[in-house]
Amino acid sequence: MTLHQKKKTFREVRLARRPVGRPSLSVFEISEVTLGEPTEGEVLVENLFMSVDPYMRGRLDDRPSYVPPFKIGEPLDGAAVGRVLMSRSSALAAGDYVLHRYGWRERVVAPARKFQKIDSTLAPLPAYLGALGMTGLAAYVGLLDIGALKEGDIVFVSAAAGAVGSIAVQIARIKGCTVIGSAGSARKIEWLEKVAGVNAAFDYKTTDNPARILRELAPNGIDVYFDNVGGAQLEAALAAMNPRGRVVLCGMIGQYNATEPPCAPRNLALAIGKRLTMRGFIVGDHEDRRSAFLADMGRWLAEGRIKWEETIFEGIESAPAAFLGLFDGGNTGKMIVRLKSA
Ligand code: NDP
Repeated sequence: MTLHQKKKTFREVRLARRPVGRPSLSVFEISEVTLGEPTEGEVLVENLFMSVDPYMRGRLDDRPSYVPPFKIGEPLDGAAVGRVLMSRSSALAAGDYVLHRYGWRERVVAPARKFQKIDSTLAPLPAYLGALGMTGLAAYVGLLDIGALKEGDIVFVSAAAGAVGSIAVQIARIKGCTVIGSAGSARKIEWLEKVAGVNAAFDYKTTDNPARILRELAPNGIDVYFDNVGGAQLEAALAAMNPRGRVVLCGMIGQYNATEPPCAPRNLALAIGKRLTMRGFIVGDHEDRRSAFLADMGRWLAEGRIKWEETIFEGIESAPAAFLGLFDGGNTGKMIVRLKSA
């Protein structure tokens, strides 16, 4: 009798109802499901780590977007790393580690082609959800391609101690830029200055005038703003941008829970006279850059030039709290949920 056969039911997180504004834990429900064994071409995978990400907030609402909404009563999905327990496919064998999109559940049976084999000896498994995964690629593409980063640029990154931001600030340093980061606690500021090696950092929660702080920290202006939050920090950055500066619109987490449409940056007209480029992007459109990213990032990690941090919640029952924690600044580096030890 296999391990799988002994235990018949497994837990998954479903969407119970759609939130209005900031979600509460009651938006989610944990259900027990019965799982069969894989049929021809399928594998049974036990999840070890799963990712929670800010973009999932948009999927809790029922509105058109670049990614479809979650459905009420159905399990959520997202990136996860697991181990193959049983395989009915020649592509994967029991014991293989895999990256896939069936997060928010303890186990899954699905076609083998939906799983990508990963090498657990190259990097710790959770790194495939962060520094070597989607958020690392977003930082890389956002800065180098969308932001057209050049040596000597003065770069400002918001949510700089988060998953994308913490990698973005370090790539900018490696590329010979002066880097300013913002984050929401004294501990994160200390991490940015002492570990990530930014030139300056400020706590946006302790100032009502980020424009003044930026003027002080970047007296020669900013060439690239990597925006993760929108709102007051975007306005402050627009005020500080140098002519022909580039604004990378990566995310606007500050407004994901808004119940009213947020007002546009009140000083947007500055973009005209300053000849700014403001460009949004979605990391999934840039798969062609993955191999260059993995080569560069693999080297930087091996050389110790990039430090990565994770905040880990334990157990599938903590996944909703981990997700909500993203909106409270509960994470330094990548927010991850450990479903089982490897
Ligand atoms: P993070 O790890 O940065 O987690 C979110 C962080 O945002 C929190 O820790 C918190 O840090 C900060 N934050 C939360 N609420 C606010 C607020 N109201 N104002 C300012 N800061 C806030 O998440 P990710 O790195 O995964 O994502 C960062 C951004 O990038 C998000 O906007 C996300 O949607 C976007 N993104 C976009 C991608 C793309 O393809 N365009 C791909 C991946 C992410 P603090 O303590 O500093 O407040």
